[in-house]
Amino acid sequence: MNWVYGLVDMQSFYASCEVASDPRFALQRREDDDHTDPPLVVSGDPARRTGVILAATPTAKLLGVENAMRLGEALRLAPHLLVVRPRMRLYLEVSVRIQHLIQRQFPLQEQFSVDEAFFAFPWPSRLFPDPVAAARQLKQAIWDVFRIRCRVGLAPNKWLAKVANKQAKRVPGGIVWWPPEQALAALHQLPLEAMWGLRRRAEILRYEFGCDTVGDVAALPAHQLRARFGPAWGTVIHRWAHGEDPSPMEPDSFQAPHKSYSHRTTLPRDYRERAEVAVVILELLDEVCTRVRRAGVRGRRVSLGLTYERLQGGFWRSKTLAHATDDAQQLYPELLSLLDRWWDGSGVRAVCVGLDVLLPAEGVQLGLFDDAVRRQRLARVVDEVREVYGETSLMRAVSLLPAGQLRDRTQKIGGHYA
Ligand SMILES: [Mg+2]
Repeated sequence: MNWVYGLVDMQSFYASCEVASDPRFALQRREDDDHTDPPLVVSGDPARRTGVILAATPTAKLLGVENAMRLGEALRLAPHLLVVRPRMRLYLEVSVRIQHLIQRQFPLQEQFSVDEAFFAFPWPSRLFPDPVAAARQLKQAIWDVFRIRCRVGLAPNKWLAKVANKQAKRVPGGIVWWPPEQALAALHQLPLEAMWGLRRRAEILRYEFGCDTVGDVAALPAHQLRARFGPAWGTVIHRWAHGEDPSPMEPDSFQAPHKSYSHRTTLPRDYRERAEVAVVILELLDEVCTRVRRAGVRGRRVSLGLTYERLQGGFWRSKTLAHATDDAQQLYPELLSLLDRWWDGSGVRAVCVGLDVLLPAEGVQLGLFDDAVRRQRLARVVDEVREVYGETSLMRAVSLLPAGQLRDRTQKIGGHYA
């Protein structure tokens, strides 16, 4: 018996949530035709035209609108665009409910991002005689309940499911199924870009190794890949090119963002220097620590999320500390180590810092001989000054660097101009 792995990806998730929640569009919309949606974008600041497009319906994309485009530019291309402000709480709530729906349908489920989830089921089996039918059922259920369209990739492992999912974009029913005996042939004929997760390594494979297709990569000897990309990545690339991915399903690995204290900001351009990203991380961390202190709690798990250029790809990784803290000075090095470990050097367009696994502040043990007590007193004074005189009344000097986002961001609420 084999297992089939599926990846389901909601189409234009934020924009779809908005369209689905507006009764004006209910009658005209059809699951099988995404051009029955209005040209709508979710964007920061409709009034000032300075926001960035966070999501766009396919109809808006037909007009030339793209994710991460400035709103002003989008409105020049499409003056009649419907613009709505992001409602993150709504999207997270819909996301959680969709995950529950997937869980009910499949024995194994792993949330992968706000709008993507893996699932897996044994096949062939009496419950799942036909993988495509199972995917169609899921797709229909998500449409029936949430009026959101999705695409499904089905394959013998998670990585292949992710690749198959991207191919589903080009297929009318939005479902691609690669049975074990066909997966490799299907994979090898795809262009190099279809190899999900490579990032800038794809450029090296193209320009240094002359690869055009995944099949070309598969033809490279493993030792050559390891010599160029290092032992870890060399092995991974070799495996992927041969359609192999041993990663297991991890049902509880996704950390629901709303359970933590977190701050996120979208940057005005792609940041490429570590020092620039580090400044933004520190600013966000300061805000998170301030809020955590105000709430009288401390956190043990610190998380860093980066979203890459065009708001595509990125990571969300966490580290659990020995003790709960609200001290930015203790947490900052941990965030930098997450940055150094997981950032692949892609341009960074959004940064998120989170703190969770919270404990009440009173119960926390202080080291007798470190200066944590003094720093704590200082932090409290800074919090009070900021409370009275505003967030920018006391700033770290790094926030004055061009990379700093604090001065700009404090004029906004929830990341958007008030
Ligand atoms: Mg999506």
